[in-house]
Amino acid sequence: MDITPIPAFDDNYIWLLQTAGITLVIDPGDAQPVLAHLQTKGLALDHILLTHFHYDHVDGVQALTESTGATTIGPADPRLRVPCEEIQANTEQWQTFGLGNLEVNVLSVPGHTVPHLAWYLNGHLFCGDTLFSLGCGRLFDGTATQLHHSLQQLCRLPDDTLVYPAHEYTLANLRFALHILPDDAALQAYGEKLQQRRQRGPTLPVLLGEEKRCNPFLRCDEPMVQQAVALRSGQAVHNALECFTLLRQLKDRFRG
Ligand SMILES: [Zn+2]
Repeated sequence: MDITPIPAFDDNYIWLLQTAGITLVIDPGDAQPVLAHLQTKGLALDHILLTHFHYDHVDGVQALTESTGATTIGPADPRLRVPCEEIQANTEQWQTFGLGNLEVNVLSVPGHTVPHLAWYLNGHLFCGDTLFSLGCGRLFDGTATQLHHSLQQLCRLPDDTLVYPAHEYTLANLRFALHILPDDAALQAYGEKLQQRRQRGPTLPVLLGEEKRCNPFLRCDEPMVQQAVALRSGQAVHNALECFTLLRQLKDRFRG
């Protein structure tokens, strides 16, 4: 499986994947860089997978469809306004179907938006704006309860899963994570590695196992994280969901 990030806008990645004789892209917010890449590599585009309706994830669909004939699969959301085969995914269990010889798994992960899909292809997780390296998506339509549940569902995937978020937010998220957990040695070491990687190019993909160990939004069940969030927010934290809710609010207000 060959996976390439195509940069778009300020900090988006449109992920292009070639496998089993299939070429597909996830969340093409802009057609032009995708078409340029296809032309350079002499590739034909077969499919487009969408995670959610935001313009920076879908605005290239129309032009790509017209010039390549690719078919689009995405969430059932009238706000998409592009021709699309709609998936009614489940929040508890991955659904599996075939695209040619490729096995495709899809899960409903509401929270950033409702609906929002996550795509899992052969050990590679394309999670849109749900999970970022050392962070998670903002709450637009959804609730903290929904996003917390969605992230927990993603964390059930194997630790060696490679995670491909749609934005290069890693170093900004690192600053916030270190603001919350300044003494966390594992986070510090992971952060240094990511900073070095960013000097050479994208920090993504990342390993889900490392995110589970270091991303504060995936560690809201840890007493250490709960204590840190209580300290920073000045509010009592009794459980993982309260911790997650306050942590998301702290991040929204953080000016690092
Ligand atoms: Zn979004």
